[in-house]
Amino acid sequence: MSPKVDPDIQKINQIKGELHANILAHNYQIPEVHAVADVIGDSLELALAARDTDVDVLIVCGVRFMAETAKLLNPEKRVYIPIPDAGCPLADFLTPELIRDSRQKYPDAAVVVYVNSSAACKSVADIVCTSGNAVTIVKSLPQSRIIFGPDANLASYVREQVPEKEIITIPVDGHCYVHQQFSLEDIRNARLIGGTILAHPECPEIIRHHADIVASTGRMIRIIGEHEERVWHIFTEEGMVMRLRSLFPDKEFHSVQSAVCKDMRKTTIGDIIRCLESLQGEIILDQDSSESARRSLDRMLEASS
Ligand code: SF4
Repeated sequence: MSPKVDPDIQKINQIKGELHANILAHNYQIPEVHAVADVIGDSLELALAARDTDVDVLIVCGVRFMAETAKLLNPEKRVYIPIPDAGCPLADFLTPELIRDSRQKYPDAAVVVYVNSSAACKSVADIVCTSGNAVTIVKSLPQSRIIFGPDANLASYVREQVPEKEIITIPVDGHCYVHQQFSLEDIRNARLIGGTILAHPECPEIIRHHADIVASTGRMIRIIGEHEERVWHIFTEEGMVMRLRSLFPDKEFHSVQSAVCKDMRKTTIGDIIRCLESLQGEIILDQDSSESARRSLDRMLEASS
């Protein structure tokens, strides 16, 4: 007897086939979304998949800047986001005006923007980075002074790793509210259980300093796969813990229960079906600024390859 296929999954696969579409889902999405995704990954992995795909349509399950990045890297494709108002509050800290003001103040500096930023911000930056390649990108630049935004925690991580450069953070208080809330008490509770603590670079300095390893979500997966350790404490969005449990069922993963990104949780299977059926939520970007935003992304991909 052939296994029973969920009717929603069946429907999604059928429409995907008709449209010649792929679904890209961020690591933080819920397991039901991962179950229908063609590619699951962190921001860099999704960006590379979007650039290299040969399908006609991309459905990006994540937040808006991820869908914009997919469109920027493969402008010929039609890119959709099932929940158009799924945003990233961290990305909202940065504006093109802030970048222009900083450039005027520090004309000798290079501008590096975290991929968690709007296409408009990327268009006035010199280069983009992700949490996984931020250190490599900053080291690759000839300038000794770097304007970096919008995540002040990632900026401070880069400052620690690249002490020979001056890192100017814009704005000074940009942060992800999900990572910002981790406390030393969470670290103490994890130590009581034992195991290894993995923290995302978006965590505040105090958490990074007490963690055993600091890594992007993509690198977390590689590290856990390479180590014998059975018990892991994951200091990032809780969706990542669900993903790790499905990838490594023999290992034990602990999360900090309140670490939920509301925008990352907005997308459901029903939303994906609606998006595929109605083709609403298309990403349309301003053509002029797209060119320069794409150049900033291309420079990143070149410098981190
Ligand atoms: S987890 Fe934080 S950085 Fe990621 S999308 Fe949510 S608010 Fe933005």
